Formats: sequence, C-alpha cells, structure tokens
Amino acid sequence: MVHIVIAGAGGTGLTLAYLLARHGIEVTLIEAATRFDRVFRGEGLMPGGIQALEQMGLLELLQTLPTQQIHTWKFVVNDRPFLQANEPEDLGVYRPTLISQPLFLEALLKRAQAFPCFHFIQGTVQGLSHEGDRSDARVSGVVVRQAGQEVAIPADLVIGADGRKSAVRRLANLPLEKLDYDADVLWLRMAAPLPESDRHTFYGFIRDAESFGAYTAWDNSLKMAYVLSHEQPPRERVSKESALPQEQRQDWKAIDWADRIAKIAPPAFAHHIRANADTLDPPVLLNVMLAQCPQWHQPGVLLLGDAAHPMAPIRAQGINVALRDVIVAVNHLLPVLQTATEVSLEAIDAILPNIQSERQPEILRCQELQRQEQAHATQICRSPLLRQTLMLTSPLIRPFSGKVWMARQQQLRFGIQPVLLNSPLLN
Ligand SMILES: Cc1cc2nc3c(=O)[nH]c(=O)nc-3n(C[C@H](O)[C@H](O)[C@H](O)COP(=O)(O)OP(=O)(O)OC[C@H]3O[C@@H](n4cnc5c(N)ncnc54)[C@H](O)[C@@H]3O)c2cc1C
Repeated sequence: MVHIVIAGAGGTGLTLAYLLARHGIEVTLIEAATRFDRVFRGEGLMPGGIQALEQMGLLELLQTLPTQQIHTWKFVVNDRPFLQANEPEDLGVYRPTLISQPLFLEALLKRAQAFPCFHFIQGTVQGLSHEGDRSDARVSGVVVRQAGQEVAIPADLVIGADGRKSAVRRLANLPLEKLDYDADVLWLRMAAPLPESDRHTFYGFIRDAESFGAYTAWDNSLKMAYVLSHEQPPRERVSKESALPQEQRQDWKAIDWADRIAKIAPPAFAHHIRANADTLDPPVLLNVMLAQCPQWHQPGVLLLGDAAHPMAPIRAQGINVALRDVIVAVNHLLPVLQTATEVSLEAIDAILPNIQSERQPEILRCQELQRQEQAHATQICRSPLLRQTLMLTSPLIRPFSGKVWMARQQQLRFGIQPVLLNSPLLN
C-alpha cells in the first residue's frame, strides 16, 4: 500500500494528512513540537481560507471553536480617520475570522486520529533516505529523531510541510529565494478587551514614523503588531542587540511598550492601553520572512505551505494560501494514489511539477501584494508631506477610500482564482 510521510503538523501538514487519511491513504504525520503552542501565528482566516476549509468539510469544526469575526477595517493617521472599510454583511460565515491555531490543530488532530490509516509521531525529521542509499537517488523516506532515538520511516512520497525554516527543504537541496520586505513585527498582547462595540474592528494606527495594527482576538484579548520598519531606531536597536552576546544586550523588553503604543494611538484607544498597562504581556519579536522556492519538488519530495513560500503577516495570508495549496495537492495526488493497480513512483513524481505550477501564480501575486501593502504603510511613515496631505484630504476622500481599498484587497481576500476540491468527501 502506498505510504505518504508528512513533516510538520501546522495548518498545511495536518489538513493534508487529514484529507489523505479520509480518502483511505496511509499517511504518517511527524511533528517536532510537543504542544501546538504558537501564540501569534496564523490567527487570521480570509474568505478564501474559510472557503478552503469548507471544501475540506471542516467549516463545522471551525464553528465549534471560539472565533472572532472582523466586520470593519479602520485606519487612522495622526488621530485623523482616513479610511474605513466594512465587510459586506452578506459574506456571512466567510467574513475574515480570527481563530486560535492551537485549538484548531488540536481538534483536527483528534478528528484525523479516528482514521486507522492516519499515524502521528511526535519527533523531528532530521534526515532523508534515498533509494539504494545513494544520495543522488530518489528520496525513499525520512529519518526521525524520536524519544532520543533515530528511526527510519520509508515513504513513497515525503511532503515537507515543516514551515519557513523547513528541514526537508534544506535536506532536499531546494534553494529558497528571499524577497525584500521592509518590516519585522513586535507582537504585544493585552488581556483587557476593548469595549464590545470595537471588538469586530481591525485598526491600523500611524503617528509620524511609527505604526501598529490592533485587533480583538478569538479569546477577547487585544493583540497588537508594532511594525519595526528596517529604518526605524527600535529595529536597529533590536537587531544590533541580538548580534551581541546575551550578557551585553540591553533589555529592550524593558521599554515601556504600553506608553509607546499609547503615544501612537488616538485618545480613546490610548486611554484603554494606559488604563490596562498592567495586563500587557512582554513583547515577542518575530522576524518576517517573505520568500519562495523556485522549485518545490525533487523525485520523492514535495514542499507545501511556508516550507515552499514563507508569507509575511500583513493581511493574514499564510494559512489561507497554505490551505489552498493543500486542496490543489490533493486534487493531483489522489488520482495517482488511489489507482487500482500498484502505485507508480514515476507517476507520483510526474505530477509534482503540476502542483507547483498550479499554485505558484497565486503565491507570487499574493507576495507581491503583501509587499505593496507594506510599502504603502512605510511610505506614509517616512513622508511627513504625505501624512499632511492625507490628513488634509481625508474628509474628501473618506467616502470613497473604503470602497477603493476593499476592491484593491480582492485577491488577498479570495485568491486569484477559485480553488475547489475535486474528489467528493466521504462522510
Ligand atoms: C508574525 C506572523 C503572523 C502571522 N499571521 C498570520 C495570520 O494572521 N494569518 C495567516 O494566514 N498567516 C499568518 N502568518 C503566516 C502563518 O503563520 C504561516 O504562513 C502558516 O502557519 C503556514 O503554515 P505551515 O503549516 O506551512 O507552517 P507552520 O505553521 O510553521 O508549521 C510547520 C510545523 O512543522 C513543524 N516542524 C518544523 N520542523 C520540523 C521537523 N524537522 N520535523 C517535524 N516537524 C517540524 C513545526 O513545529 C510546525 O508545527 C503569520 C506569520 C508570522 C510570522
């Protein structure tokens, strides 16, 4: 029987393993982490990602979990509201939704474990094996470090869904090309919820050269992403310090972040931050990586999700495009894997380039749009003249700016084309 090994049980690996197991394919999913603990990763589902989950038969699972919908996007420059866009009400369940990735993954793992052909291993993929032990031959399995021991697991296909620092990618000698992206992110979480009327709004605040985004998460906490533009002093500070030995670093976590954030926000928001400063968790620095592999596959190996194309956080694309990768991969893989005769390894290898070529145009377009979105924000932060113009013209442009902005977001919300699962789901 054909056997697929998937490295990494993030959004990509777990949904793929679930779908394959649901269609009777023998699949082993290997996850390095002992807990699905990822505080700030991939909380935002866009309509295209929610539609992908629906295709997978997982919308109802999502509805059993705590979530928070976004109804409105508001952007404020130096206290002046300059853009407000409302999510169409008739989008219903497809409106952008904030989820807890750990709770979603835990629930999905439980569901997948009901299938006898699904196997889960807690361990780290640290090697690839090759046919006849020749390193230039087809990949024929993985070597996993599990409970202090090395275990070899044979596979007809190894799928690297092990995230942006993918070990499978490195082991398969598939190079990654980094794209220029002008910002990292410092994540802040405050336990104090905003007033009920503000909980469905995503805010973007800019004051002079500084900016942050804020939203109420699925657990009613307030999450804020302070943008560390590569030109800003805090970024220099963080990067210079991280190059120093631990004992010589200044404690940048000791910056009064509540005060710093409050100074950027308009008065009502600033008041909330200051009044609840004691509930602010220490910041978490996340270096953003926007990159793509020119080639996602080798004989016996396929990369998907962040392993093939790490996405930036802006406009929440990562899980969404990864879920869409999974649907396309399943569409190509199932007809080859479910054949009545013996599965041909050549036939598996032959479809791998088709998966990449079907997905790559959307990935490249979304990455380009992410860069443009970030570049607009950076331009406003850099140019006092532009800020001044925006503030002066905001009463005139506000009635149209929301609609124009929403139209510009179309591909980042729905993808560049519909992605549909071909095979009917079994119940
Ligand atoms: C700051 C930040 C915020 C983001 N916000 C959003 C958002 O709101 N919405 C959105 O859609 N995306 C967001 N993203 C992107 C999103 O997190 C990723 O694109 C998405 O999680 C990709 O999923 P993945 O399954 O491919 O990779 P990951 O989620 O990274 O999962 C990879 C898994 O592989 C495991 N692993 C790694 N190495 C090994 C190994 N050697 N052996 C076994 N297992 C291994 C890891 O433990 C992990 O569980 C954000 C990214 C960043 C950096």
